[in-house]
Amino acid sequence: MTTEQAISTFQDHINEGKITPDHPADCGYCEACHVAIIALSKQIPIAPIVEKYFYGVNIVCPTCESGISVASKFCQNCGQAIKKAGDTK
Ligand SMILES: [Zn+2]
Ligand SMILES: [Zn+2]
Repeated sequence: MTTEQAISTFQDHINEGKITPDHPADCGYCEACHVAIIALSKQIPIAPIVEKYFYGVNIVCPTCESGISVASKFCQNCGQAIKKAGDTK
């Protein structure tokens, strides 16, 4: 199972819970799903925000908006996986 598939499996439970009448509002599994989705989402590399200046570039994490170093594959602040510039995957 890929990370994306795992996320959609967790998301399915949350979505079904919303339309299931006897689904408890304080469902512990839904809460776990939410936590898992946030954690798993950070493992999927996303393109950083690249702010271009006349003296160079500033790489910013799209999740927490803190600055990250160009060579870094992860945000040091929130753990978000970051795509390297030019990475197509
Ligand atoms: Zn639930
Ligand atoms: Zn971050």
